[in-house]
Amino acid sequence: MKYHDSYADSQVKMRQALALLDEYRLASNPVNYAVAYEYISGVNQDLVDSLNEYIQTKAIDPYALESLYQQFISNRVERDEACVYQLSETIDGLGSASSESSSAIRQLDEHVQGISADNVIALDEIRAVTEAIKTSHKRIDKFVQEAQKHAQTIKDELATARMEALTDPLTKLLNRHGLTRMFDFYVNELSKSKLNAAIIDIDHFKQFNDEYGHLIGDVILRRIAKLLQEVTNDCGEAFRYGGEEFLLLLPDTDLKAAQMFVDDIRAKVEKLRFVSAKTKQRLPRLTISIGVSEHRKGEAMESLISRADEALYRAKNGGRNQVQSA
Ligand code: GH3
Ligand code: MG
Ligand code: MG
Repeated sequence: MKYHDSYADSQVKMRQALALLDEYRLASNPVNYAVAYEYISGVNQDLVDSLNEYIQTKAIDPYALESLYQQFISNRVERDEACVYQLSETIDGLGSASSESSSAIRQLDEHVQGISADNVIALDEIRAVTEAIKTSHKRIDKFVQEAQKHAQTIKDELATARMEALTDPLTKLLNRHGLTRMFDFYVNELSKSKLNAAIIDIDHFKQFNDEYGHLIGDVILRRIAKLLQEVTNDCGEAFRYGGEEFLLLLPDTDLKAAQMFVDDIRAKVEKLRFVSAKTKQRLPRLTISIGVSEHRKGEAMESLISRADEALYRAKNGGRNQVQSA
């Protein structure tokens, strides 16, 4: 059980959580409430720090809470997976124990066949016993096979759930959990000596949303995500990093080449044209700003991204629609 608050304590926290949501005009849906309750409880310092940052930078909105929920609360799948994995191993063990005892019975059976026909009564009794063992063993075997099939189904379902937990539902790109995994994979498993990170942020997207609505905004996010997916298909990985922010991991390339690569993406986005399906009205062009950083040996992911973020900040201050590097 995750929460151990008494009834009275939880009532107090519930009111504080709802007041917090109310203060920022956020709906008290399950996702927002879970984040607010966890924040009030103070049990997860990383979540508290992240939410405080959103509050301080006035960036607290449904997207921020959704992202915190994904990042800090919805990762319970992994623990469940460990649990099922153990179950499956136990069953596998049972399966091999069962086949061992099968072979013991087979041996016993062979011995029985070899006993001389003089002691007919004892032989018949032994035969009856081995028959009974064989029958009950068949039942065990059937049970084990079914249990193994069942465990495999649970494993498959969990693999799907886990994939979903790593994927952003709007753009189908990997989310921050996926980013952590991929970074780990590139650096620790493939031991890539070269790796670049690029943060991509849509320019003046709030204004665009305010003017044309969030639904059109979502279409734009999906379209840009698709473009990023296509261009990184065989040379890296694209992630949805935040609301209107994407991140690329580009292995096997140096900073200069990565800079040129993302500048090409910047130019492609600038050329995208969108038309409102409803009004057939042409929507204004959108641009993106990008910050790139090159991974240093032993550097943590947070530091790599924070350097890319500083470069992005310079790209924004330099007039947007441009690439800057750390
Ligand atoms: P800047 O050029 O400085 O990046 O300005 P900006 O307006 O893009 O940046 P700001 O951080 O002020 O606003 C980001 C906006 O992105 C806020 C929100 O309206 C929008 N946004 C975030 N996530 C989503 C989403 O999932 N869907 C839609 N439609 N809009 C989103
Ligand atoms: Mg942003
Ligand atoms: Mg932006």
